[in-house]
Amino acid sequence: MKPKAIRGMNDILPEKSATWRYLEQVLQEIVHSYGYEEIRLPILEHTELFRRSIGEVTDIVEKEMYTFEDRNGESLTMRPEATASVVRAGITNGLLHNQRQKLWTSGPMFRYEKPQKGRYRQFHQFNVEALGYAGPDVDAELIIMSARMWRRLGISRLSLELNSLGTPEARKRYRATLVEYFSGVKNQLDQDSIRRLERNPLRILDSKNPELQGIIEAAPVMLDYLDAESVEHFEELRELLDIAGIAYTLNPRLVRGLDYYNRTVFEWVTDALGSQGAVCSGGRYDGLVEKLGGRPTPAVGWAMGIERFVALFEACGGKAPDTGADVYIVAVGEGTLQRAVGLAEQLRDAIAGIRVELNLGGGSFKSQMKRADNSNAGFALILGERELSEGRVGLKPMHTREEQTSIGLDDVASVLSRKLDKAAADAGAEDE
Ligand code: ATP
Ligand code: MG
Repeated sequence: MKPKAIRGMNDILPEKSATWRYLEQVLQEIVHSYGYEEIRLPILEHTELFRRSIGEVTDIVEKEMYTFEDRNGESLTMRPEATASVVRAGITNGLLHNQRQKLWTSGPMFRYEKPQKGRYRQFHQFNVEALGYAGPDVDAELIIMSARMWRRLGISRLSLELNSLGTPEARKRYRATLVEYFSGVKNQLDQDSIRRLERNPLRILDSKNPELQGIIEAAPVMLDYLDAESVEHFEELRELLDIAGIAYTLNPRLVRGLDYYNRTVFEWVTDALGSQGAVCSGGRYDGLVEKLGGRPTPAVGWAMGIERFVALFEACGGKAPDTGADVYIVAVGEGTLQRAVGLAEQLRDAIAGIRVELNLGGGSFKSQMKRADNSNAGFALILGERELSEGRVGLKPMHTREEQTSIGLDDVASVLSRKLDKAAADAGAEDE
């Protein structure tokens, strides 16, 4: 019987991984250009961390976590998101005392959801978190930074939705109004929402049940209940976005699935991917550090779903730059393989970033040339017994009609580096 992969957990095959790598590289470049530094975190955390941060009455904690006991009987959970872990790491490593941190991280997240297009059980996020920043300047910067990513990659078809949840006190007032409103229409609510009505009524606004949309649209909106400082925060953020030329729509029903948000929340959504439209979501979580045992520390961040990001990039016609081989070395005849191994290493030493494929497993001239063709390399280097005895090698352009030429083995690196338009390794040049 063939082994099966776990439902909702995907292999990312070579044909796709080039795009992933390219996009991840661009994201990293951009966050670095804004001064964010990488933090790498464990996949496993104590279950308690997520219960306390994400909140008990959330889909994630109620039914989506991969939780198990380790051999010691401790309850551990495979992280469903990254913010809790970043905050935990900030506290445990003392990164937040009289310091501010601008961090990014990325990797797999785990949620036991119903797998479908754009929704998986193992999925990947790219996260940025700014800890110790009260905003709204940093809120704006985080959004501006994400907009730069779309621009750089030619991604359109995204729109920004924005809301403010105010302070916890303002939310409490709003919550009371909301409970009153939803209680009045209780007979029209579904099971989930009735349960939430008592414990977490704001989450009803987040419901994806189409039958509830009418009631939800008519509900009172948070923006009318904001405290004065949150109003000011929100206005300043909007002004900064206006100056940056970033369009947005106000979405009073955007409350985000997690409990820890306050003030700014936002989501970049697309209509290009069917119903899984949220590509990048974030917000401010000023209370979380303290809630998890640190000193009060304002913070804000966002998370991008890489699977959806890749799909959107492709839907917008994006393609990763070609990463095929530059050169394929064909070696036929006595003693040629031994020389070819050295030649391949010599080229990798001499030309930064060159991709050299050495023919492995022998074969006739014809079959080796066929492999060279399949490798999509721009050039084949052909080493036969005659070439070897003359200290030369044949250079055959594979994509043009140019003739094959013969070059001295010692000149291969310089000729190729010119033809490939790549800088010599000792010039310290970077990959393109
Ligand atoms: P959704 O409303 O689609 O369930 P969410 O609000 O649960 O998204 P977040 O917890 O904010 O999502 O995670 C940030 C991003 O991670 C989302 O915008 C989305 O791009 C991505 N994401 C979330 N859950 C999944 C999943 N199960 N599979 C793939 N990507 C996901
Ligand atoms: Mg979700």
